[in-house]
Parts: sequence; C-alpha cells; structure tokens
Amino acid sequence: MNRIAVYCGSATPADPVYIDTARAVGRGLAERGIGVVYGGGKLGLMGAVADSALEAGGEVIGVIPDALVEAEVAHRGLTELHPVRTMHQRKQLFTDLSDGFMTIPGGTGTMDELWEAMSWAQLGYHAKPVGLLNAAGYYDHLIAFVAKMAEVGFLRPQHRALLIVDDTIDGLLAKMAAHRPLEATITRMSQADL
Ligand code: AMP
Repeated sequence: MNRIAVYCGSATPADPVYIDTARAVGRGLAERGIGVVYGGGKLGLMGAVADSALEAGGEVIGVIPDALVEAEVAHRGLTELHPVRTMHQRKQLFTDLSDGFMTIPGGTGTMDELWEAMSWAQLGYHAKPVGLLNAAGYYDHLIAFVAKMAEVGFLRPQHRALLIVDDTIDGLLAKMAAHRPLEATITRMSQADL
C-alpha cells in the first residue's frame, strides 16, 4: 500500500486518547513510507494526523470541497491540496488516490466515509481494504452492529469479512496488507456499467 485514505473526526474530544491515536496513525504511516490521503482539514483529529505525518517526513494529500477552503478550515502546509467542487467528487478522489481506507475515531462525517467505502466494496466499485482502528474501544458498538447485520441477513455471508478491524495500528496494517478482494454482489455487470 503506497497511500491510505484516513477518515477521522474534525473535533478534539476532551479525552486525549483520541488525539494521541491520530498522531500515532500519522506518524506510523509516514514511518512506513505510506502516504496519507485525507479530508484536508486542519482541525481536530484530521489536523493531528496531517501534522504528525508531515513532521515524520511523510506525504499528505488533502482533498477538500471549495466551500470548506473558503471557510478556512483547510490545512495550508500539505504536500498537495486538491480543491474539489462537491462532496461526491471528494469521496471519488479519496478512492482514486488511495490503496485502502483506514477509519479511526470520528463522528458523522467519518461514518459517512466509512459506510461508503464498505458499500462501494460490496458492489465492486473498488477492491481496496476497508480498515477500522478500534482505538480505546470507541467502535465496540459499531463492530457489534456489523455482526448483527450479518446475523439478521442484511450483510451477505461473503461480505462478513468486509470490515477489517484491529485495535492496534500495526495489527490493522498487517491485516489490510493481507486483504484479498471479496466477491462483489454485482458480478454480472462489467466495470463500465458501474
Ligand atoms: P466528523 O467525523 O463529523 O468530524 O467529520 C470528519 C470527516 O468529514 C473527515 O474525514 C472529513 O473528510 C469531513 N469533514 C468534516 N468536517 C470537516 C472540516 N471542518 N474540514 C475538513 N473536512 C471535514
């Protein structure tokens, strides 16, 4: 994996474990020579991932809608900043520029990005690993919910392993690197149809 899209919160929670996790992820990726693709913001965990990766000499590419650049939340010190017009173009570019997705703690925007990465993998729009860093047990309930989806039957058996989970950066990266694409739901369509 040359580049990973990191999805994370734009907030700074009171508990320092979350910012510390973001810093460890940014530094950890840079030290492994893996570039960071992310939402281009300077706030919260997003800014911490970017700053720590840059400090460790890593490549950091931000993809941010014009409206957020105008709102001055864009990080100005990145290796590259790609302004895009819409949130849809942004998520498409996250996918095009990266070899995998890593979600670390975050809120609504982070969930939007995670679920889209999972849903696109199911449909065969991409075949990249979708990782979840369960730092400090933050995602325990989400992991239980994914198990519930599979138990009830909304998540197909061949997609049970779609979400790659670990509570350490090393463990998660090792699992993501070993990822083999799952059978997509729509196998009869050609890529051109998707
Ligand atoms: P949230 O988890 O709700 O804080 O949203 C964070 C995710 O949504 C990030 O991965 C970004 O791609 C996007 N996002 C939300 N707020 C911002 C912001 N202020 N600046 C840049 N991107 C943001």
